[in-house]
Amino acid sequence: MKIIAGNWKMNGSRELLDEMMGALGELHTENRVILCVPYTMLRSGDVSVMIGAQNVSKYDSGAHTGEISAEMVAETGASVTLGGHSECRAAQQDTNADVAKRAELAIKNDLLPIICVGETADERDAGLTHKIIEQGVRESIPANAKNGGFIVAYEPRWAIGAGITPTTEQIAEAHKIIRDILDEMGFAETYILYGASVTSANSAEIMSIKNVDGVLVGGASLKKDDFIPIIQSVK
Ligand code: PEP
Repeated sequence: MKIIAGNWKMNGSRELLDEMMGALGELHTENRVILCVPYTMLRSGDVSVMIGAQNVSKYDSGAHTGEISAEMVAETGASVTLGGHSECRAAQQDTNADVAKRAELAIKNDLLPIICVGETADERDAGLTHKIIEQGVRESIPANAKNGGFIVAYEPRWAIGAGITPTTEQIAEAHKIIRDILDEMGFAETYILYGASVTSANSAEIMSIKNVDGVLVGGASLKKDDFIPIIQSVK
């Protein structure tokens, strides 16, 4: 089983979600499908799709105007959340410790966190890719994480939304680093997704790379004619 997760970012509508869920319901795929949607669209998923948020607060509750807690997300019936997405790390200056706090609260509230890690173009150019990935994984996984109770997504920040696909070797190398660290930490059952500029044209090849257990899809998850062929491309 592969995991195909969509990140709608600040796009979509309840109507679009209804339409997408209807189409996914007719698919009968053996793969797990997740849609991370804006907070206002959160709801329970169904047999064919899990619904998730795109972030949760690093605080339990209190005077944090505009924030949404993990408990509030769980109350909507949603069951997943992204954490440490590149755009959130940039907008909120999140450190790995902040991401771990968000993931900790997600787990505490029975949400499945998808913890995103990845290097910027400058970090890659400076030869820091391995270090950034390693620190991202080691420092963003919270102490309450259980084997298989969270997902890691490798998202090279220079490729997200850019229409750039890393080479097979670059993806394989990053996923091997993550797999080795997860094994060493006792998280051998944890899925590792690849994310950044995935389309139906490259998804089959990407998902056939060793240690790639699925994909996190941004832009191409918004239209069923783009997203469904990605799910169907699993070999
Ligand atoms: C993302 O936002 O997680 C992402 C992978 O975006 P895109 O597929 O558009 O690059």
